[in-house]
Amino acid sequence: MSELTREKLGSAALIEMEDKHGAHNYHPLPVVLAKGEGVYVWDVEGKKYFDFLSAYSAVNQGHCHPKIVGAMKEQAETLTLTSRAFYNDALGPYEQFITNYFGFDKVLPMNTGAEAVETAIKICRKWAYEKKGIAEDQAKIIVCENNFHGRTTTIVSFSNDESARKNFGPFTPGFIRIPYNDLDALASALAEENVAGFLVEPIQGEAGVFTPSEDFIPKAKELCNKNGVLFIADEVQTGIARTGSLLAVCGNCTCENHCEKQATYAKPDILILGKALSGGAYPVSAVLADDEIMMVIRPGQHGSTFGGNPVAAKVAIAALEVVRDENLSQNARRLGELFRSEMNKIIAKTDLITKVRGKGLLNAILVNDTPDSETAWNICVALKENGLLAKPTHGNIIRFAPPLVMTEAQLMDCVAIIEKTILEFKK
Ligand SMILES: *Cc1c(COP(=O)(O)O)cnc(C)c1O
Repeated sequence: MSELTREKLGSAALIEMEDKHGAHNYHPLPVVLAKGEGVYVWDVEGKKYFDFLSAYSAVNQGHCHPKIVGAMKEQAETLTLTSRAFYNDALGPYEQFITNYFGFDKVLPMNTGAEAVETAIKICRKWAYEKKGIAEDQAKIIVCENNFHGRTTTIVSFSNDESARKNFGPFTPGFIRIPYNDLDALASALAEENVAGFLVEPIQGEAGVFTPSEDFIPKAKELCNKNGVLFIADEVQTGIARTGSLLAVCGNCTCENHCEKQATYAKPDILILGKALSGGAYPVSAVLADDEIMMVIRPGQHGSTFGGNPVAAKVAIAALEVVRDENLSQNARRLGELFRSEMNKIIAKTDLITKVRGKGLLNAILVNDTPDSETAWNICVALKENGLLAKPTHGNIIRFAPPLVMTEAQLMDCVAIIEKTILEFKK
């Protein structure tokens, strides 16, 4: 097929092509995107949409941010990959930058979120044996019900999502699962023997933007501290300004200069980042910790061919600079409050939507139907027709997470689209 014919393929043909040649591990909304800029994406027919998913919060800085793309292009033309067998001139400056930015001694660079979670689990276990004195192979990590931490065999081992687990066993042992947002359950689990860590999402994104009570995270951190157990925050989705602060564990602090003095800051012993760490330009993830934890990893014990490559290093610096320079935390905080109050006005006019919840610009609405009904999906199809892209998550929940570079006027246009779609919607 010539490039010319390829360019002319429409949405239907491209969807059919994926269906025929690609594994069926996703069920996308029927829209084929060809271009993105800021808060907008365009399909192959040229129709423009507001992106209200932001690639699961990877595109916090907006699509194709010129500063991030510029850094990527420049480095791609200079040096792309050395492996860690040699030093490269971009990694050191990036490591210095990101550790200062988030206030940790060390970073371990990886590529995807799941790899970073795996890395955190390995560091936690090794720390447990070498520093805490747990007997080999006995370490346990506490996790929460309805967690989402990625797709590897170890990570799905402690998931309770049937579709993520069924027929993928045998599973990795060494995890205790407790209800989310339950400090009593955490306290009991911490009283068990050989507990090394508590791995938690400060807000459960994939579970439907489940937002815990205000004191859950700081109190959980305190309980972990008291019990000599590592508090491990998976901020792959919630981090990097999404929830109206640099990290969700920052609590109510909105400053872009990550300040450890903030009373509400529950500093993780291990912090896991991904997604927006590159602004969606490139797979970049990171695990951050202080020396007494990170230094348990020595040469040859963990690694990744692409982790810490020069393109990733330059892209991540640019992506984090954009967050700071464009005050994205503050914008997410302000627009998030506006968005939820506008959603509550819609909820007052219809019984199709029962609730809006979330923090910053990570929000979800709850659709008034059974979890296995198609209503949320059909609303998303109708939203697409009206120029806004969102995706249902578990059950009848629609997540709304636009890029954080959105303006108030754009947000109000989106609210109008959502209101019109919902009020006109017929099951
Ligand atoms: C997306 C996500 C991951 C996995 O990231 P991948 O890059 O898809 O491997 C892990 N944890 C959380 C909280 C996520 O939202």
